[in-house]
Amino acid sequence: MTQETGGFAAFNLNPNILAAVIATGYEEPSAIQQQSIPIIMAGQDMIGQAQTGTGKTAAFALPILHCIDPAKREPQALILAPTRELALQVATAFETYAKQMPGVTVVAVYGGAPMGPQLKAIRNGAQIVVATPGRLCDHLRRDEKVLSTVNHLVLDEADEMLKLGFMDDLEVIFKALPATRQTVLFSATLPQSIRAIAERHLRDPQHVKIQTKTQTVTAIEQAHLLVHADQKTSAVLSLLEVEDFDALIMFVRTKQATLDLASALEAKGYKAAALNGDIAQNQRERVIDSLKDGRLDIVVATDVAARGLDVPRITHVFNVDMPYDPESYVHRIGRTGRAGREGRALLLVTPRERRMLQVIERVTGQKVAEVRLPDAQAVLDARIKKLTNSLSPLVADAESTHGDLLDRLTADIGCTPRALAAALLRKATNAQALTLAAIEKERPLVPNNAPRGDRPERTGDRPDRGDRERRAPVPLAEGRARCRTALGARDGIAAKNLLGAILNEGGLAREAIGRIQVRDSFSLVELPEDGLEKLLTKLKDTRVAGKQLKLRRYRED
Ligand code: AMP
Repeated sequence: MTQETGGFAAFNLNPNILAAVIATGYEEPSAIQQQSIPIIMAGQDMIGQAQTGTGKTAAFALPILHCIDPAKREPQALILAPTRELALQVATAFETYAKQMPGVTVVAVYGGAPMGPQLKAIRNGAQIVVATPGRLCDHLRRDEKVLSTVNHLVLDEADEMLKLGFMDDLEVIFKALPATRQTVLFSATLPQSIRAIAERHLRDPQHVKIQTKTQTVTAIEQAHLLVHADQKTSAVLSLLEVEDFDALIMFVRTKQATLDLASALEAKGYKAAALNGDIAQNQRERVIDSLKDGRLDIVVATDVAARGLDVPRITHVFNVDMPYDPESYVHRIGRTGRAGREGRALLLVTPRERRMLQVIERVTGQKVAEVRLPDAQAVLDARIKKLTNSLSPLVADAESTHGDLLDRLTADIGCTPRALAAALLRKATNAQALTLAAIEKERPLVPNNAPRGDRPERTGDRPDRGDRERRAPVPLAEGRARCRTALGARDGIAAKNLLGAILNEGGLAREAIGRIQVRDSFSLVELPEDGLEKLLTKLKDTRVAGKQLKLRRYRED
């Protein structure tokens, strides 16, 4: 066990839960976890003021899992979430943390899916039920005893539930639960309506709030970019094209993410390395020294590993994953703008994290301006500028050293100096795309903040129209075909799993694979049209996350 996991070890959680947490790559508890886990483990009622991005799901999921009895095959914990999307997310988090607890099952109960299998899963002894209030009430109408064994209740995003009009449903659910249960309420805000619920239904609750002091960050220019989680690597690569940086630090949340992102950057030719709590101290020092003296330009780090890092060369901080709280944001971006220099900080924000962005703006008292992904023209301009900057110092004396050779080569080859210079440029730029059309073709992202039929952040589970599945398709690049697999986020699939499987088993180059979009119940992958049938046959038996990939050509119409 590394030194950093000591943070989680100190809670004395069931060792199987601790092992699963370590396996996810978390290095230390976030502030809300630090405070909430002991209270919930002790069986006390609690009100937690925290929003998405603070690690609140694990803050209740870990202690709840610790408290349940896996041997009892009956519902013991009920988590209420405002939307189907959040319910699924919470259920997946529970499954991750319960991976090493044999016999523990989790069921997600939400509108838009048939009721029969949900009820069956509950009756079959799922210990954890994650539900949206509307659908749960439908179940209660069929079987009012279905929740009679629940002794832990969590209301997640309680303010959102009230906004969506679930007040009456909540009252019905409270009545259906044993009065002796433990109740935990999480909410980003605590309006009077939430306080009233707490007063009526919680017993002597402990209050947990992450204190946020106002902080100032003046010398640093800040910006944010809205992006879907599975587009982060592509977004980072696009931003790097146009940002004029010297050295750069990128922050992510897990050890695995440091490794994945650092290798994606290295593959694109950047001098990048990962820095995380698993890396031995002397190796960490080597990485930092390399960043100082220019052998490395980019370090991808977790918060823990970057503690105390002071490298004056750092001109940019990329917050690839959202920090847990504004203090940690301020701390991270303080890695740049050192010694009176100017610094620039970029924050990637997924649609669900917009609220966290507002909190950061409030606490720092500064607007974090929105930027968009650079379009093909901006990428082209940046590439040409780099080329100009690298060549212009050479022209002064290159003619005297290589002029005669040029004459000889043009004569030997029988071409014009212009043709020869063009050939040399192609070679010198490694055939990098240097026309608008070529750049548009290679870029996996559409330079827009709402590239994929972005939708309102939340939809209640009633009426549930499955709009997540119906986002507008993005136009395909020429020569690409879109393929579909029935594996999606709910199967534990991430874009990198699909990419890895297709690269390994299909024998393709990374550039041959276009956008990968992972949805709850399916994923889309863009592949070369040329040779597609052969490729699909090659991938026929490929498995991802233990399941058959079964990739098929997908037609929108
Ligand atoms: P939440 O605020 O619960 O929506 O969590 C936000 C994200 O943080 C999720 O992707 C979690 O997997 C991740 N996360 C939660 N706790 C930790 C931790 N202690 N270390 C690293 N990542 C975490």
